[in-house]
Amino acid sequence: MRLSRDQIEANLKQETNRIQAEGMDATIQRLVNEGALFVSNHSGGKDSQVMLIKLLELVPKHQLIVIHASLGKMEWPGALEHAEKQATEAQLPFIVATASKTLFEMVERRYKARPEVPSWPSSATRQCTSDLKRGPIQKEVRQYAKQNGFTKIVNCLGLRAKESTGRAKKKPLTLNVKASTNVATWYEWLPVHELTKYEVFAEIARSGQKPHFAYTIGNDRLSCIFCLFGSENDIKNGARHHPKLLSEYDSLEKKTGYTMHMSRIPLVEIAS
Ligand code: SF4
Repeated sequence: MRLSRDQIEANLKQETNRIQAEGMDATIQRLVNEGALFVSNHSGGKDSQVMLIKLLELVPKHQLIVIHASLGKMEWPGALEHAEKQATEAQLPFIVATASKTLFEMVERRYKARPEVPSWPSSATRQCTSDLKRGPIQKEVRQYAKQNGFTKIVNCLGLRAKESTGRAKKKPLTLNVKASTNVATWYEWLPVHELTKYEVFAEIARSGQKPHFAYTIGNDRLSCIFCLFGSENDIKNGARHHPKLLSEYDSLEKKTGYTMHMSRIPLVEIAS
């Protein structure tokens, strides 16, 4: 039976009330028991890595997949391979989600269409995440869920409260109303929301694993080499190891007349 959007939203409201009544841990256990598909989003970073370690303690392998949104040359080399290695060693399906455009193509198109507005993503219009990561991941997950008969999807993200005030305010378990359809209900879960950076590294070491090499050469965080939210330390480190990529960002900043970093300072200046 095909439900209308109103009916879907009414069901989701009921489910939200149920989550509130039973609490997060009990809901997660119920979703495990109900055979939900747990999707471990894996950027190759330490928080994704520790999240997968934790998920493997809780979720049967036939209900768990690992997905990586590939950002091509924008991301630290080896990030995809690092995520794939952990998935393969755990004998889990590993899916790579790829957008139909790159970050530079997105910026170029925006500049061409509307040169009067900032061409780069910002914290308010974060298209790099929505178009290059979230959208392609949702497409792949939907397809996997459909092919394998899953009607409940728990999308797991390695976001931690200690990373920023924005992340601290996030609820660890919510329903994704927009992504939920007639066919599947989507949950968003932050399994490592409460962990500190030290606990993350300690847990990875306890499991006999190593984090991505970018941490050992000085990075605090890992994803795009040059992120609009990147710390000065990470921008400088990225520039030291990837000067050619920095000059590509610099050329595009000069061409568009807008800067990429949220500080509005040109990347080369942050890096110098
Ligand atoms: S890591 Fe930064 S620049 Fe890259 S997609 Fe995420 S928010 Fe955008």
